[in-house]
Amino acid sequence: MLIASIAIYYSNANFRRNDFNSLLRSRAVSVAKLVLDSYEYNANLILRSGSGYPNRLPEEKYMILSFDKDTLYTSDKFWKLNEINYIIGQVKADKEVILRQDQFEVLGISHSTGLYNFAVIGAAIDKDGLLHMKKLRIILIIVCLISLISFSIAGWFYSGRALKPISDVVSNVDDITITSLNLRVPEGNGADEIGRLAKTFNKMLERLETSFAMQKNFIANASHELRTPLTSINGQIEVLMMKDRTADEYKSALGSVLEDIRSMIDLSNRLLLIARTSAEGPSGQSPKIRIDEILWQAQEEMKKFNPSFHINISPDSSLTDSEQIIVAGDEYLLKTAISNLIENACKYSSDNSVEIKFGSTDRWIKVIFEDRGIGIPGEDIKKIIEPFYRGNNAISYPGTGIGLSLVNQIIKNHNGTIKITSEVGVGTKITLLLPSA
Ligand code: ADP
Repeated sequence: MLIASIAIYYSNANFRRNDFNSLLRSRAVSVAKLVLDSYEYNANLILRSGSGYPNRLPEEKYMILSFDKDTLYTSDKFWKLNEINYIIGQVKADKEVILRQDQFEVLGISHSTGLYNFAVIGAAIDKDGLLHMKKLRIILIIVCLISLISFSIAGWFYSGRALKPISDVVSNVDDITITSLNLRVPEGNGADEIGRLAKTFNKMLERLETSFAMQKNFIANASHELRTPLTSINGQIEVLMMKDRTADEYKSALGSVLEDIRSMIDLSNRLLLIARTSAEGPSGQSPKIRIDEILWQAQEEMKKFNPSFHINISPDSSLTDSEQIIVAGDEYLLKTAISNLIENACKYSSDNSVEIKFGSTDRWIKVIFEDRGIGIPGEDIKKIIEPFYRGNNAISYPGTGIGLSLVNQIIKNHNGTIKITSEVGVGTKITLLLPSA
C-alpha cells in the first residue's frame, strides 16, 4: 500500500508540474511577444493581456533579459532571482530551464525576434495544483492508515481462527498427565495437517497408554510372584517355630523353604535379564557363535537339572555348511532363551520331550522346537509373550509366565523373530529366525 501510494503521489506530482509548466511556457511566450512587439517595457503591461492569450496564472511574474544580462522588462521590480546566471547560461545553450523557488515554479526559455535573442523567465504559483497535491497526500495517508488497521485486525482475526485448532490441541495436551493418559486431543475433520497431527498424537497416546498399563501390570504381577514364595516361607517358618521339632522335620521344612527361595532367585534372575535386555536394545557388534553349539550346551544343562527331559537335536536336511548357522550375539542370552523354550516344551508335554531342528534359509538361521504337549489355546497365543501371561490350560503347571517374554526380548535384541503355532491337545511348534552372521 505504501509503495503504491508513493507511486501515485509522485506520478501526480510529475503530471501537475509538467501541466503547470506548459501553461507557464505558453504564458511566457505570449508575454514576450506582447512586450517585444509593442516595445512597451512597462510593468503593467501584462495586466492588459486578455482575450486571445492564455489565462493569467496565480502570482505570475515575468522577466525578459538580453543574453548579456541586461534587464529589458520585469513585471516585478522587487523580484530577486539568485539562479539568473545559471538560467541565462542554459537558455543561451538553447535549453529550457525549470526550477523551483519557494512556492514558485520558475521557467526559463529563449525567445527570438528575428534579430535578437532574449531570455524569458516566468514564475507563478500553482495554487490549485499544490492544493490538489496536499489533498492527495492526506487521502493517501488516511487510506494507508485505514488499510494498515484493517489488515492488522483481519490478520489477527483470521490467524487466530487458523491457529485455533493448534491452541486447542496444546491446551488439551496440557491436561494429559500420567494419570489421565486415556484423554485424547480433538481431531477436527481429521483431513487437514492439524487433524493429521492430532490423529498421530492420539495414536502415540494410545501406545503410551498401553505400555503404561503393561508396566503397571508388570509391577503388580512381579510383586505378586515374589510375595507368594515369601508368604510361603514365612508361614513355614512360623509353623516350624511353634514347638520343638525333630531333625528330620527341620530338614524337610528347610528343603521346602529352599525350593521357594530357589524359585524366587530364578524369578528375580529372569526379571533382571528382561530389564537388562530391554534396556540394551538390539546388539551391535557381537561375537560370532554357532547355534548348534548353544543348542548342545543348553541340552546338557537342562538334562543335568531335569534328567526326565528328552531333548532331541538334529540338523535340517537342507543344511550343507556350518558357516550358515553362525549367529552374532550374546551366548549367555541365547542359551537362556533356548533353555526356556526347551523347558516349556518338556514341561507342558506328558512325554517330557522336545524335537529341535536347526537349519538355514537365505540369510536366516532357523531353529524349530516341536512338542506333543497340551498346546496353547488360540485366544492365548497372541498374549502369551506378555510378561506374566499364562495359558488357561497351564495353570496347574508350575511357572510364572515370564519365560516367553524373556525369550521374545532376547530374540528381538538379536534382530530375530519368533513364531508360535499350536493346537490344544496336539502340540506346539515354536520357530526362531535369527540373522546369519
Ligand atoms: P511359564 O511357562 O512359566 O508359565 P512362559 O512365559 O514360559 O511362562 O509361558 C507362558 C505360557 O505360554 C505358559 O503359561 C503356557 O500357557 C504357554 N506355553 C509356553 N510354551 C508352551 C508349550 N510348549 N506348550 C504349551 N503351552 C506353552
